[in-house]
Amino acid sequence: MTSEVHGIYIAALLTSLLAIVGFGTLIRKLDKPAAGWLLFAAVLICLPLQPLAFYFVRLPLDHWLAGHLSRTSPAYQWLVTLYAPLTEEPAKLLVLLIPAILRDVRPENFVRYALAIGLGFALGEMWFIAERVSHQPALAKLPFYQFGGYINERLMTCVFHSAFVAITLSRLRRRWWLGLGGAVLAHWAANFPLTLMAWNVGGLGRTTWEVIVGLWLAALFVGALAWFAYLILGQVLPLRWMYGIRHCPECSTDFEPSTLAINFGNERYERCPHCRKWLWTKRSTTTQIAPPNSPG
Ligand SMILES: [Zn+2]
Repeated sequence: MTSEVHGIYIAALLTSLLAIVGFGTLIRKLDKPAAGWLLFAAVLICLPLQPLAFYFVRLPLDHWLAGHLSRTSPAYQWLVTLYAPLTEEPAKLLVLLIPAILRDVRPENFVRYALAIGLGFALGEMWFIAERVSHQPALAKLPFYQFGGYINERLMTCVFHSAFVAITLSRLRRRWWLGLGGAVLAHWAANFPLTLMAWNVGGLGRTTWEVIVGLWLAALFVGALAWFAYLILGQVLPLRWMYGIRHCPECSTDFEPSTLAINFGNERYERCPHCRKWLWTKRSTTTQIAPPNSPG
């Protein structure tokens, strides 16, 4: 190497490490039966899929389309918004061509495969984007710590790619094409405000659109996290994991922590679903809730 390494590549390396450690730990530790080596293989196989889909499907498709429509025509501008969802969501499913992986993805463990596929795919995209950024003269000279926006966005994309493919995998054994359609639609909806920003719809201006896009992505990000919490823990908010089962001092019953509560250290002010009183509750000593009519 003759010149120094581009800042964007250091940022990509840093982002990759963060994603691998964070997602890797989660995928490894999740209490859902799946073959570890197949999950690992799924990550590896997905690494090149985003660049491959871009160069071998999206670019030729764009050339073909531009030959039939003018690039400035509204039809072309709209069709372009379909490129990423229509090429990337099916591309992720190429990993299912490995029979052992296809067999191992089941309703009880698909969330682990969704995280593995999303991680591999997003890692490939990280380096694909870094490579393109390195060719932009204005950005090529920046030090890595100037790419905070890139790091943020790429880490969020790991969650988004996982969430989209989770939609497909959630229906893998019952009309999978409906799941894939849902994934394509969700992917398109996530990206669409970026297109609206590019078009400067309503003449709102760049700054306003950046705020709207930021809020939109933040809302989707929270939604994706909530969905993963539900898939992993069976609850949208990991309340039981955070607060344990609650014990009512009034009627001495145990119940699931409620969503609506005031937290104060180990105590919560919440409504007991049995005696229906609002009171301060403590963490129960039991780890399982007794069935409704059992004695005690
Ligand atoms: Zn009570």
